[in-house]
Amino acid sequence: MNILVINCGSSSLKYQLIDSSNENVLAKGLCDRIGIADSFIKQTVTGKDATVINVDLKDHNIAIAEVVKALTSKEYGVIESLADISAVGHRIVHGGEKFCESVIIDDEAMKAIEDCVPLAPLHNPANIIGIKACQAAMPGVPQVAVFDTAFHQTMPSEAYMYALPYEYYTKHGIRKYGFHGTSHKYVAERCAALMEKPIEDLKIITCHIGNGGSIAAVKGGKCMDTSMGFTPLDGLEMGTRSGILDPAVVLFLMDNENLSSKDMNTVLNKKSGLAGVSGVSSDMRDVTAAAKEGNERAKLALDIFAYRVKSYIGQYAAVMNGVDAIVFTAGIGENDIATRLACASGLEYLGVTVDAEKNNVRGGEVEISADGSKVKVFVISTNEELAIARETARLTK
Ligand code: AMP
Repeated sequence: MNILVINCGSSSLKYQLIDSSNENVLAKGLCDRIGIADSFIKQTVTGKDATVINVDLKDHNIAIAEVVKALTSKEYGVIESLADISAVGHRIVHGGEKFCESVIIDDEAMKAIEDCVPLAPLHNPANIIGIKACQAAMPGVPQVAVFDTAFHQTMPSEAYMYALPYEYYTKHGIRKYGFHGTSHKYVAERCAALMEKPIEDLKIITCHIGNGGSIAAVKGGKCMDTSMGFTPLDGLEMGTRSGILDPAVVLFLMDNENLSSKDMNTVLNKKSGLAGVSGVSSDMRDVTAAAKEGNERAKLALDIFAYRVKSYIGQYAAVMNGVDAIVFTAGIGENDIATRLACASGLEYLGVTVDAEKNNVRGGEVEISADGSKVKVFVISTNEELAIARETARLTK
């Protein structure tokens, strides 16, 4: 059965068509500049050159209709007709406390996803538009919601609660939710498979470090804690996000720099992280290149990055009373050999030793720990689209 996986943003929409019988990607594509001038679709059918289709994508309804046209095109498509799409899986950013697993989207689920809009005002509305556009373009085709937050719903209350007046939790849902859950779950399961052990017996720390980054403590296959919080701002130093800081800094800066909450939000989410510290770029490759040329702020940005990853690894080993494996994934975790080594060095007290030669890899599924390292260390490429396709196939079979 062919599953269409949709990741819908406010002005873009990524898609993949996956044959769930063999998990092959038949085609992938991007609708860009939806609702803006010069919109286009770029579609790549596996094994063929990419096709760019210049088409006016006035809104998401038109974008989805054009995606169906592109996938069924005689010239550059990959399926005969709409009937060749069995189900649609949607990446949904926030499922609040309502969703601890993926669901088939019915009226009740749709209402619950809409109820989560205040928790993710930038993301859930776009996701909802994507669902409605698919319902309109593919009536009767089952739709499934796969949530970034769902995997983290197993966290115990001492991990997810903030020490704030309790009524803010009951009134506004202020608590840690965590994100990147689909990726953390996927790589933790792959790690158990590579170790040939039941996930129920393992304590795994998964480090999803890309432009956005988070770490999760996964014990017995369940998330015990994660570094992102109420929003994706918490935790690690990211491309442009600050990660963890004393909340009093926010109050100080608002008072002393005369910043509104909107300004402050921009500082924390768009002007901080690697970009803010280094003054060079939000992209790890640029920051690394600048550090190599002697840029001290770029070096500091790299040092903060590795220090935080290492701190969370120590914290989560404590949370789980031990660790059997550490996994690195996402853009930096899969590709950045030096940063990975910096993050995993100095952890000998935990029984972690990385083999520098084995670590000289990019992507794939590779063990990089030294022979005899008590804790196994892996690079595992994440595949959120495949994870969404699997969930969609499982629920709609
Ligand atoms: P993601 O958000 O998962 O796509 O990851 C994006 C981040 O991965 C950016 O900071 C990139 O600089 C980084 N990245 C991607 N490829 C490489 C590479 N070959 N070496 C170092 N960093 C990389």
